[in-house]
Amino acid sequence: YHLHIHSLLFIQTVLHISIFNSLLTAAHGLSDEQREFQKVAFDFAANEMAPYMAEWDHKEIFPVETMRKAAQLGFGGIYVQPEVGGSGLSRLDTSVIFEALSTGCVSTTAYISIHNMCAWMIDTFGNTEQREKYCPDLCSMEKFASYCLTEPGSGSDAASLLTTAQLKGDHYILNGSKAFISGGGDTDVYVVMCRTGGKGAKGISCLVVEKGTPGLSFGKKEKKVGWNSQPTRAVIFEDCAVPVANRLGEEGQGFTIAMKGLNGGRINIASCSLGAAHACVQLARDHLLVRKQFGETLSNNQYLQFRLAEMATKLVASRLLVREAATALQENRPDAVSLCSMAKLFVTDECFNICNQALQMHGGYGYLKDYAVQQFVRDIRVHQILEGTNEVMRMIISRSLLTES
Ligand SMILES: Cc1cc2nc3c(=O)[nH]c(=O)nc-3n(C[C@H](O)[C@H](O)[C@H](O)COP(=O)(O)OP(=O)(O)OC[C@H]3O[C@@H](n4cnc5c(N)ncnc54)[C@H](O)[C@@H]3O)c2cc1C
Repeated sequence: YHLHIHSLLFIQTVLHISIFNSLLTAAHGLSDEQREFQKVAFDFAANEMAPYMAEWDHKEIFPVETMRKAAQLGFGGIYVQPEVGGSGLSRLDTSVIFEALSTGCVSTTAYISIHNMCAWMIDTFGNTEQREKYCPDLCSMEKFASYCLTEPGSGSDAASLLTTAQLKGDHYILNGSKAFISGGGDTDVYVVMCRTGGKGAKGISCLVVEKGTPGLSFGKKEKKVGWNSQPTRAVIFEDCAVPVANRLGEEGQGFTIAMKGLNGGRINIASCSLGAAHACVQLARDHLLVRKQFGETLSNNQYLQFRLAEMATKLVASRLLVREAATALQENRPDAVSLCSMAKLFVTDECFNICNQALQMHGGYGYLKDYAVQQFVRDIRVHQILEGTNEVMRMIISRSLLTES
């Protein structure tokens, strides 16, 4: 009952964000078309996700049907080309959509963003046969995808991965295991980085492995702090035979493909953090306006007013950086990789701090699961860790500063 009442309040909050607060909706600078699908995404978040986000978290439900509904709006392959079922939108459009969806459920939106990244990798690096075979079902979310790079012994140093793919006739025989795979076990299509050659990045290839392939199995479902509406499992290969026809690009191109996918992935995950911060600023504002202590509402307290102002300022600054990075990637600018890393580093850190501050402003209520703010905090914490940790982002940015003239 409590959760239900809270959900209703939360729907109102999200609608309020989308309709009334132009500073927070950030429609400024967007075209009419972008404003249209931003509104569609906000409405979907408010009506189809926000009422259920606490339940999906609590019961660890992977909301397959909701995601398929999102796919009907074109969100299953946002930046995949239309001839294979995608929406053919830009990276900036994609960011606007993921920010809006995340106000309704960060965890579900973040999974959708990984799925989109995989579909884009197949669309971009696959041949016509591969694109036609996989992309339409991924764009409609009839099938779901997972991105498999990390291994138990290779995280930040991803190019040291050990999963081997030995060529035997017209198949590769895979052996090894992947750790922390989002969607793992529940998804249908695994985009797997594995070693076909010698040590280092150049020995890595990218294969599409279908669920049901003999020799493919999964570890136990991990218990996590957040991101509970999507399963995370190890993906295990034991003499798993995958047709050579399932290789994306050439042998040795796999690491490049993986990193190109992640450039967009980093903008997307930063956009999911933006959506969380966006929702939390609004939740904090609403709480300050109604909660009374020392004989007046908290909104009359100048310390809290200033903190709220800082949160909103950092949110808007974060959004500008994400949108700048998205535009740079779209235009294939030389600074795109650094900007994507800067956006991921700055925005996932700042937005975590915004959400955490919003929780603080709720006092003890912020620590109760009846209030959405704690879930946003739990869900976006991992954005500082995955798709390259924020330390790795610093490595990428400084490397480019120090080596390029
Ligand atoms: C919920 C969840 C979902 C995930 N989903 C996926 C997925 O779908 N697919 C996938 O492939 N992976 C996924 N990952 C894995 C994620 O990308 C890795 O956890 C991440 O890259 C970090 O690797 P690691 O955990 O091995 O940490 P480590 O690499 O062991 O790092 C530990 C710490 O040391 C720091 N560190 C390491 N090297 C350096 C250095 N040279 N300088 C400074 N600091 C350093 C790191 O930044 C980190 O803080 C997921 C992880 C989680 C938690």
